[in-house]
Amino acid sequence: MNTLHRIDGRLYLEGVALDMLAERYGTPLYVYSRQALESAYQAYIDAFSATPHLICYAVKANSSLAILNLFARLGAGFDIVSGGELARVLAAGGDANKTVFSGVGKTADEMRAALDAGILCFNVESVSELHRLNRIAGEVGKVAPVSFRVNPDVDPKTHPYISTGLKENKFGVPIADAPALYRLAASLPNLKISGIDCHIGSQLTDLSPLADAADRVLALVDALAAEDIALHHIDLGGGVGIRYHDETPPDLAAYGRTLAARFAGRREKLLLEPGRSLVGNAGLLLTRVEYLKPGEDKNFAIVDAAMNDLMRPALYEAYHEIVAVDERPTPSKRYDIVGPICETGDFLGFARDLAIEEGDLLALLSAGAYGMSMASNYNSRPRAAEILIDRNEIHLIRERETQASLMAGERLASWP
Ligand SMILES: *Cc1c(COP(=O)(O)O)cnc(C)c1O
Repeated sequence: MNTLHRIDGRLYLEGVALDMLAERYGTPLYVYSRQALESAYQAYIDAFSATPHLICYAVKANSSLAILNLFARLGAGFDIVSGGELARVLAAGGDANKTVFSGVGKTADEMRAALDAGILCFNVESVSELHRLNRIAGEVGKVAPVSFRVNPDVDPKTHPYISTGLKENKFGVPIADAPALYRLAASLPNLKISGIDCHIGSQLTDLSPLADAADRVLALVDALAAEDIALHHIDLGGGVGIRYHDETPPDLAAYGRTLAARFAGRREKLLLEPGRSLVGNAGLLLTRVEYLKPGEDKNFAIVDAAMNDLMRPALYEAYHEIVAVDERPTPSKRYDIVGPICETGDFLGFARDLAIEEGDLLALLSAGAYGMSMASNYNSRPRAAEILIDRNEIHLIRERETQASLMAGERLASWP
């Protein structure tokens, strides 16, 4: 489905011209398509229809309330990694009972909040966390549902910063230790064994590591069943990649068939925790060219978006397609697209051929995931506004920050 398209050289998202949006709301501006979000979710529902399942949207990919609300309305559950994300899910009308809590550093307060809300499951990542959860659950008079996040030690063949399922990563418990840990959990009074979980990495472009991880987890589930440790669900995490440039992302329908074959005849429900693949290609970042700066070796286009708005290029050398919003008939030149921040790492794209003038608009595509949710205020830059498009309707879902909102919590020291 093509929600991004041109009419007479002007770029539109659904029925809305992006140059008009930039005039009205300013730049940098995040813009999302409702249709693209819904069809990404529907692709999961279709692909996994043969297996009883729950799609738990990974909130960290894009935690804006309107986006969470949209997924909640579609029936999604959520995967959270902090008390802040839990608060957002609840504020957006999400169901705690469909929400799993991942993360290596859950605090006692976060555990209390999640127990109080009635969380579906804690994905426990260490023995110390298990003991803490048992103690907190006892203190508040609840029984905590638990999974272990196991580390199946498969190489996801992705960027090292977003690979999480190798022995050397901080995440999860070694799969070989899991039987003993489940026995321990079964012996603790305030815990109830609920499932198992793994998440091996992000932006995976190959199905085989996902299938390998599933096989290792299912073998463990069978070994646990032989010890009378029964699970209600098997959570295979997120990680399905998207097309940013020339990648061929995994075929979701093929992934669905792979898992359907493995889950046929099983009693456990399948949980998945997709983030990027639900929101990544549903959003773009609009930015305006402030200056063109010709150089001896290269030309720079200095734009009003920066690494604080979209950190992925600086953090992972990630590639985002960059296109001119309004086409010009003039020949293109090659530019490095950089932001105004005082860091050499503040780039958004290298060696892009564009026909642009100062004042023109650019769209950074595939910016719906790990864009706004990673944005910061570095260089005292207010974070961008966000727009959700629904056909011809424009919904301002987040106002642009102001200098006043940035300084709101600060005080001068109280010395005379
Ligand atoms: C980040 C994360 C996800 C989502 O990963 P994507 O690659 O965005 O699908 C799922 N589960 C856990 C535990 C995560 O940390």
